Amino acid sequence: MTAGEELWVLAGLAFAFGLVVGSFLNVVIHRVPEGESIVQPRSRCPQCGVSIASWDNIPLVSYILLRGRCRHCQVSIPLRYPLLELGTGLVFAAIALRFGPDPMMLVWAGFSAALIAAAAIDFDHQFIPDGISVGGTLVALAVVPTARWLLGEPALSAWLVSLSGGLVGAGFLWTVGFAHARVSAAMGRRFPHWPGEGEEMPTPGSLDYWTWFPGLGFGDVKLMALIGVCLGPVGVLWTIILAAVVGLVWGGGLALFRGAANMPFGFAPSIAVAAILTMLLPPSFLSSLLG
Ligand SMILES: [Zn+2]
Repeated sequence: MTAGEELWVLAGLAFAFGLVVGSFLNVVIHRVPEGESIVQPRSRCPQCGVSIASWDNIPLVSYILLRGRCRHCQVSIPLRYPLLELGTGLVFAAIALRFGPDPMMLVWAGFSAALIAAAAIDFDHQFIPDGISVGGTLVALAVVPTARWLLGEPALSAWLVSLSGGLVGAGFLWTVGFAHARVSAAMGRRFPHWPGEGEEMPTPGSLDYWTWFPGLGFGDVKLMALIGVCLGPVGVLWTIILAAVVGLVWGGGLALFRGAANMPFGFAPSIAVAAILTMLLPPSFLSSLLG
């Protein structure tokens, strides 16, 4: 096989692996916000309660073979499950094509999986579990510099890039959220969820004053720390720029779809798309956007 053919074989394997990971992420997204175990019990049909057999639980394939319905009660399976599996498979294949056989490939796969789970949970519940944002940041602070060191970068500089990326990402988003909250408070602006009906504005003596902002959740700030540790200070700034663009398109699309412009929506899906784009796009392409 030529090197080009080998790369496509690798991408095919990464796609299949991504389908399996996507199937696992569906379980994480469904169970973690409810505080349920992601290992036990087996998945059940929410309608008839029958456990789903392993041959009916093959990512993407089973959905097609079952024509999107439960084998026992015929209730339709939400299209979102196979789409999330397909999306994860495509992102993993793109990572393989972009980075090739390289230790960073596994790092980027894990990073993408964390982003996809955070985005879907934020979409459903408007919060991001600390296990993903804070837990992911701590794991990434150990894993990302180690992978870069294995690729020949000096250990200390690799670690400092990750640490500064986390601080820049979280710091930037926190500053935007905090400044917006203080300007809104000074102008007497109120939001449906901030500070709430008949509630007083938070004061500097309370934790809410420092961590609770209108429109932007503190979970987004913590997620940005994870992204900064993985992508470094330049990458995380690109993520913020792209997230603003993606957020405008996404927010506009959602408003059209729901027929209401004032509905709150989680920012994490836009952040996740922007971070995955920043990870995949060559740095030379990104800098050419600046002219
Ligand atoms: Zn059923």
